[in-house]
Formats: sequence, C-alpha cells, structure tokens
Amino acid sequence: MTVEQTLAELVGIDSVSSRSNAEIVSYLAARCEATGFKINRFPFIDDYGVEKINLTALAGAEFSGLHAIELVLVGHTDTVPYDPNWTEALQLTERDGKLFGRGACDTKAFIAATLTAIEMIDLTQLKQSLALVFTADEEIGCLGAKRLADAHPFNARYAIVGEPTSLQPMRAGKGYCVAEITVRGREAHSAYPQLGASAIFRAARLIERIEGIAEELKNDRRDAFDPPHMTVNVGIIKGGTAKNIIAGECRFTLEWRTIPGQESDYVLNLVRRAVEDLQKHDPDFVCEIDAGRADQSFETSGDSQLVRFLEESSGNTSGTVAFGTEAPSMIALGAEAVVFGPGDIRVAHQTGEFVPIDQLNECVRILRHAIERFCM
Ligand SMILES: [Zn+2]
Repeated sequence: MTVEQTLAELVGIDSVSSRSNAEIVSYLAARCEATGFKINRFPFIDDYGVEKINLTALAGAEFSGLHAIELVLVGHTDTVPYDPNWTEALQLTERDGKLFGRGACDTKAFIAATLTAIEMIDLTQLKQSLALVFTADEEIGCLGAKRLADAHPFNARYAIVGEPTSLQPMRAGKGYCVAEITVRGREAHSAYPQLGASAIFRAARLIERIEGIAEELKNDRRDAFDPPHMTVNVGIIKGGTAKNIIAGECRFTLEWRTIPGQESDYVLNLVRRAVEDLQKHDPDFVCEIDAGRADQSFETSGDSQLVRFLEESSGNTSGTVAFGTEAPSMIALGAEAVVFGPGDIRVAHQTGEFVPIDQLNECVRILRHAIERFCM
C-alpha cells in the first residue's frame, strides 16, 4: 500500500477528539500486528465518559528489554473538529501536489509515513528496540500522552514526535500554563464608594503588577526562541454587574509560556507575592488563584544524535516551536525528543488543511533511515 493510500484510509476514519478513537486504534493495531509488532492498548475514559485508547507497538524489545526502547515514533490519533460544509474533510483529495483532508497535515501524514516506513523494514533485522506510540486527545491538551507518561510503559532513548513542522527538526518548545484569578470586592451603590470595595479596581492594580512581572521576565532570555523570553497574557477579563454598582467580583485568565529552565509555577509564585504586597495597603484584598494547565517546556541539546540525524537527513537546521506538543511526555520517559513531520502547522486546524505530497514521501524516507540508523 502506498503512503497516499494509507493516508486516505486514516483520513477516512473520523477521529475528532470528542469521539472515541477506538476505530482508528483498531486500524493502527491491525497494521502494526501485520508487520510483526507487539501491541498494547492503554484505554481510559475521558471527562465526558467516552472511551479513549493510547496504543503502543513494540518490535525488537527482546534485544534491549522493555526498559530501553532505542527509538520511539509518536503520532496523535485525534484531530480538531471540521466544518460540516467541508464535504471532503474525510475524503483525501489531491490537488496541485497537495493532499487535502481533516488531519491530512495534523498529524495523520506523519502516521501514514510511519506505517509505510515500518513496512519497508525487515523487523527481524532490528538490533535495538523500536516503539510506535499512537495517542488520544492531543488536540485538547496532550491528555493521552500525559497519561501514557504516567503509566510509564517503557524508558526511551530517542523520540520523534510527529507534528507538522515542514520537516524541520524542532528540538525545543515553550511550556504552556494557564490560571484563572478571581478578585473579590464588596458591592455597593456607586454613589457611595465608601460603602463598598471595587473588585475591578483591585484587579486592575494586580494586572498592572503582572505587566511589570512580564516586563522583568524579558531579561531571562533564551535566544533560540521567538520571542526569546517567557510571554504573559491576560486574555479574558470579566467583572461587575452594572455601571452604577461597585463591582463585587472580577475574574481574569492568566496565560504564560515558559522557556526551558523556568518552572511552570514560577509566574504564579510572583503573582502570589504581588498579592501579598497589595494586601499590605489593602488588608481586604481577597484573591483566589486557580491554577489550570501547566505543560512543561522542553529542550533537547543541539548535539543530540537524533537532532543531528534529522538535520542532516532533512537538510534543515533545527528550530523551536511555539505550540504545545507531546514532547515533554516523551522526555518524561527519558527520551531526547524532537518534534518533526510533514506539512505546515499554519495550515493545520483550518478547513482545507493539506500536506504536500513531496514532504509526505520525504518523511517516509527519513523515518525509514532513522529506524535503520538507530535500531539496526
Ligand atoms: Zn498535532
């Protein structure tokens, strides 16, 4: 089967994150078993009661044991939703050297390239173990990969995390953290401010402090990134009930993207300190900080054998990604991780997402050579 035919079959299976991924996992398990991989399912029930499955497929484990997988290839099985008016979302369509369909770029192209590459390899020739990892729920917070890292099915040495990078190896990525902050005040008629305390004025004071924190953090630089520092954003603010009522409550979201070396709760600790400082002048200042997602940043050395191999075989120097990936979960398994795959992230998550056919074929070649280089 060609890589294009495989991609057509993968795109034909609707695997939007809200649905169970059992169907695509069955397909992947059958393909892997047919080539001699030993598969393992890691099922779980998501927050909406839907069954999700992480799938691992191992080959050559008899040589190095379960505890030292030499190379892991990772692809997420889920996709973002598609517009019902996009009639060809599940039907891979070729135009101008591009293949269009939901997930064609993100990230079924990488999975199709992986399946094609393993079918070109004689697994009996492996001298080191190879694992394929197919995860659930990447698009809603890398949830499947995090669960798999918690289950820790094996230790790994090198991991290629499939994502559309136009075949540029990405060896580092910023972390992604979110918190919701609720500032409380006391409602009163706005004609009598002395009877109340404005939650909005209080939130404004805190946000001004946060802006100062963001400004200070610009001095902690990592030049590989664009921009080369942590970024901080207050994306949503809601507060008050009417123009003539002193606001009793004000909530805002705080989002920050760490660079490697910064702990994910670093900003929260600075915010807590700012709150304590504000309380010195305003003892009634009440503020709740509800920490949400806290995805670690990741960085693999430019000297890593995997980075060098992917740079040489793709002809692209390594870079960094600004979007969240499953790489930190692979690092939790001990791996040096690189994000890499065909297609451009800028067309992912859009109606009409596509993968260029030449990049798809090139990815097959590179993954095949990666298996030969690291496992044979
Ligand atoms: Zn993706």
